[in-house]
Amino acid sequence: MSREVRVRFAPSPTGPLHIGGVRTALYNYLFARRHGGKMILRIEDTDSQRFVPGAEEYIIESLRWCGIEIDEGVGVGGPHAPYRQSERREIYLKYAKQLVEAGWAYYAFDTPEELDALRKEAEEAGKTFAYNYEVREKLPTSLVLSHDEVEARIARGDQWVVRFKMPVDETVAMDDLIRGHVEVNTSTLDDKVLYKSADALPTYHLANIVDDHLMEISHVIRGEEWLPSLPLHYLLYRAFGWEDTRPEFAHLPLLLKPTGGGKLSKRDGDKMGFPVFPLFWLSPTGDTAHGYREDGYLAEAFINMLALLGWNPGTEQEIFSMQELIDAFSLERVSKAGARFQPDKAKWFNAQYIHHLSDEQLAPIIQPILKEHGVVVSDEQAGRVAGIMKERVTLTTELWDLTSFFFVAPTQYEEKLAKKQWKGDNPAMLGKLREVLASIDDFSKENTEQVVKPWIEANGYSVGQVMNTLRLALVGAGKGPGMYDVTEFIGKEECLKRIDNLLSNLQPIE
Ligand code: GLU
Repeated sequence: MSREVRVRFAPSPTGPLHIGGVRTALYNYLFARRHGGKMILRIEDTDSQRFVPGAEEYIIESLRWCGIEIDEGVGVGGPHAPYRQSERREIYLKYAKQLVEAGWAYYAFDTPEELDALRKEAEEAGKTFAYNYEVREKLPTSLVLSHDEVEARIARGDQWVVRFKMPVDETVAMDDLIRGHVEVNTSTLDDKVLYKSADALPTYHLANIVDDHLMEISHVIRGEEWLPSLPLHYLLYRAFGWEDTRPEFAHLPLLLKPTGGGKLSKRDGDKMGFPVFPLFWLSPTGDTAHGYREDGYLAEAFINMLALLGWNPGTEQEIFSMQELIDAFSLERVSKAGARFQPDKAKWFNAQYIHHLSDEQLAPIIQPILKEHGVVVSDEQAGRVAGIMKERVTLTTELWDLTSFFFVAPTQYEEKLAKKQWKGDNPAMLGKLREVLASIDDFSKENTEQVVKPWIEANGYSVGQVMNTLRLALVGAGKGPGMYDVTEFIGKEECLKRIDNLLSNLQPIE
C-alpha cells in the first residue's frame, strides 16, 4: 500500500454503541494496525435532534474496554483537531458555498407546506415522492430564482438548505473492497440536503466527505447501511475535485438476528437474553440496556467473537488474541453476506477464555466481585479459588455463586441435600469424621485424603455418603468442587467449626 493508511471510526452519539458499531471500530483498528497506519476517532454530532448526552462517553469507554486504541481523535487530539464535528462547524459552510458556485449544489427555500403539496400530488399520481431532478425546478430554489432574489432571501433571514444537484441519467461506477464493482444510475437518486441554515450545520454527507478529505483518510470501512450513500459520496469527491485522494471504501456486512432474517436489534437481545451493547447503558430518560462487560464477559472473548462475525481467517483457528487478529486480518476475507449472531457462541468463547486463565489472571477478575460481597482476601487466595472453579464458569457473574462457600460458612442448608444426607448413621458418622480431621496437622488436600480414605474403608462407609455429608456441613448445598479442595482452602479450624455448626443447628431428618 503506497499511501499511508489512515482510517476512522466515525460514530454519531445518538445512544449506546451497538455491537455492530463495535465490530466496525474493530475492523478499522485491525486494518490500521495490520498496515502500520493510524486509527482516528471522529464524533459525528451534527444531527442536534438525535444527540444523546452520555453517548460519546459511552463510545469512548466501550473502545477502551475492548482494547481498541485510538491514535488521533476525540479524547486524544492530533494534527487535525478538533475531531468533534460540532466544534468544526465554521469549516463546512465554505465548502457548501463552493459547491453552489460550481453548479453542483443549490439553495432551496421551500417550506414544509410546499413539500407536502408536492408529496400529495405524487401520491395521487401513484408515485413515491422524491426530491430530485423532476421536482427541484418546481420549487423556490436558486436554480429558478434570480441571483438577486436568492441574495435577498438569505439576507432577510429566510431559512434555506443547500442541496446536492444530482446529475440526470449518468452512471456512477464505484469500487468497493468487499462488494466489488457497483454501478448506479443517478436518476434513481435524490437531491440530498448538505447544509441547513436553521442550525448552521452540515448534514452527515457533507461533513463526512469534507472531514475524510481534510483528515487524509485513506480507507473508509463502515457498515453496509451506508452503501446507498456511496454514489453521492463519489460525486461529492468529483464535485470538490478530490478524486485523486478519494479514500477506498469497504462496506461491512450486517449483523443478523440469531434466527437469520433481518438486522440484529435490541429487541432480539431482550427476547433471547443476550446483550447487543458492549457496556451497560443508562439513558438520560432512565432506560437501561444490558452490556457484555456487566453481564460477565471478558473483553478479549467478546472481541474474538465479534472479529469472526463477518471475517474468517481461512483456517480452522477460532481463538485469537488481538495481536493474532491484527496479523491475520484482511478485508479480502470479510464476507459479503450478513453474519448471523449466535448468542451461544458468544458464551462458548467466554468460557474458553476463562478456562485458560491462570490464577494470577483470574485474581483481578474475581476480586471486585468478592469485595462487593464484603470478602477481603489476598489476590493469591482469590485467584486460587477462581482457579479451582474456572472449568464450571461461563460468565464471570457466576463466580460468586460458585465460590462463596470458600469464604462464607453456610447459614442454611439446601433442603434436597439435607433430606438425603442428614439422617440415619450420618450425623454420628460426621461426628467421628470430625475427630479424624481434628487429628490431622497437614491439611493439604493430598494428606487429608490419605488419612480420610482408609478411615472410610476401615469403617465400612461409602465415599459418597461421607463426602456428601461433609459437603452439607462445609458448603451447605449439593455443589462445589471436590471436598478436599474445600478442606484445604478453608483450613482445619474453619472446617471443624462448620461441622460443629451443622451438628448443633440441624436436627436429623427422620
Ligand atoms: N456517523 C456515521 C455513523 O454513525 C458514520 C458513517 C461513516 O462511517 O461514514 O454510522
